[in-house]
Order: sequence, then structure tokens, then C-alpha cells
Amino acid sequence: MGISPKCDLCKKELEDYGALLFSPPDEEGRTFKNHICIECYNKLKEKYKIMKPIKRMQIGKNGLSEAFVEQVRKIFENENVVKISILKTACRNKEDAEKMAQNLVGALGEKFDYKLVGYVMTVIKFRKVQRSLLP
Ligand SMILES: [Zn+2]
Repeated sequence: MGISPKCDLCKKELEDYGALLFSPPDEEGRTFKNHICIECYNKLKEKYKIMKPIKRMQIGKNGLSEAFVEQVRKIFENENVVKISILKTACRNKEDAEKMAQNLVGALGEKFDYKLVGYVMTVIKFRKVQRSLLP
């Protein structure tokens, strides 16, 4: 039995071999082997990444320190999303929270954006510079 020349996911010609994907066994205990191209494999990997638990951080009484920004930057080397809770010791009102989020994203760079819900900001890193995806 030869290897299928087509990717079983996108049905494109299998030029760059990415992975083998086994289906769960059917009633008769048979599993099906799917051949996946490198492109589909990377897509699956990307999907899996998104399903990883989101990293969480807190801004406490030290506020938005340089050390904190550096910590966030480090985390974004491996993550695309980080949730940051702003504790009461770090800000008194919504305007402070908004300012803090803006300052943080400003310090991180152009590829970042945030969404603030209550006192929790979700910071997102884009692969390319692309603002205002979030409301
Ligand atoms: Zn494919």
C-alpha cells in the first residue's frame, strides 16, 4: 500500500509531508490513517495552541512597572493571548484601568491590542500589524 499522494484534509497534492493522523477506531476497531500536508499540520498546531489555557497575570500595587512589561513581553514569546487582572491596589477606577491597558499595549508595540472588560484586560498579539480587530 503506497502513501496517498493527496492530503486527506485539504485534498491538495501531498508535496510536503507533515503528519499522520489516526482516526478513533470505528465499531469494528479499525482506525483510518490520514496523511496530512505540512500546511494542514501547521494549521492544526495553531488550533491546538489556541486551545491551550490562557496565561494569566496580575497587576498589583507596583502598577505597570518596567519589570512587569518585561515579564509580559517574555510570555508573549510563546503566547498569543494573555489575560491580565488589574487588582484594586493598582488602580482606583475604570479610567485608570483603561490608561494602564493603553500604556501596556503601547509599551509592547504595534502588534498588540487589548480588550478591557471590567478590570481584566485581554492582550492579544497579532502576527502582523493590524489594529482595531477588537471592539
Ligand atoms: Zn493539507
